[in-house]
Amino acid sequence: MGRERLAITFLGTGTSHGIPMIGCDCDVCRSDDPRDRRNRASVAVRVPDGRVILIDVPPEFRLAALATALERVDAVLLTHAHADHIMGSDDLRRYNNLRGGPIDCYANAATVGVMRRVFGYAEGPYTNPDRPSLRLRAIDGPCDIAGVTVRPVELLHGRLPILGYRIGRFAYCTDVSAIPDASRPLLEDLDLLVLDALRYRPHPTHFNLAEALAAIETLAPRRALLTHIAHEISHAGTSAQLPDNVALAWDGQHVEAEL
Ligand SMILES: [Zn+2]
Ligand SMILES: [Zn+2]
Ligand SMILES: [Zn+2]
Repeated sequence: MGRERLAITFLGTGTSHGIPMIGCDCDVCRSDDPRDRRNRASVAVRVPDGRVILIDVPPEFRLAALATALERVDAVLLTHAHADHIMGSDDLRRYNNLRGGPIDCYANAATVGVMRRVFGYAEGPYTNPDRPSLRLRAIDGPCDIAGVTVRPVELLHGRLPILGYRIGRFAYCTDVSAIPDASRPLLEDLDLLVLDALRYRPHPTHFNLAEALAAIETLAPRRALLTHIAHEISHAGTSAQLPDNVALAWDGQHVEAEL
């Protein structure tokens, strides 16, 4: 039986400042290469029946949704509640309008708590087309979402426990500085791993490039794409130094992965 495939679109691949960073005149922030312009990190995952699972809702979500012609969102997965991952959530209301109902939004319990505080007006039934309508759900194990099995993967972002997500043989692990041993089996036998690689220098709450490459070597996915990238990394310059099965993701990129 042939494997079904997921279609993944990168809505953003940048770190919390985005690239260009405000007020910076470094070579990457002034680069003419469109792949050096990075919105805050997010992906849309289209499952075989056409439904779309969005992972994180960054500040540029509306702009990225327009740029990639994202016409539906059927469910949302949040990795954690830092501003660069949730602050586009008000614009989910347009997808409530398009589907005529609420959207299930999955996260760990801590992130659900922050979402209730920041977007409390969004929780509840779909009654007002000018408000998002999110059904916040804490996830702590495999869950059927939009017709596929989604597995949360516990990761550490500094000392903060956050979630990566695995769907079939695809996994998305942003904002990670350590992969707990208990989570490693969930990241084995991947067709595609998307992994945080902030910059060259070490950082207390993110993998740098060397740490990301070391993790990729141990987990041995067929392919890996790097995301949550800061302005120290130029697309062309760094791409030339990467192993054959690793690349930097870029905004608007479409890739497929085995389900
Ligand atoms: Zn982040
Ligand atoms: Zn810069
Ligand atoms: Zn973060």
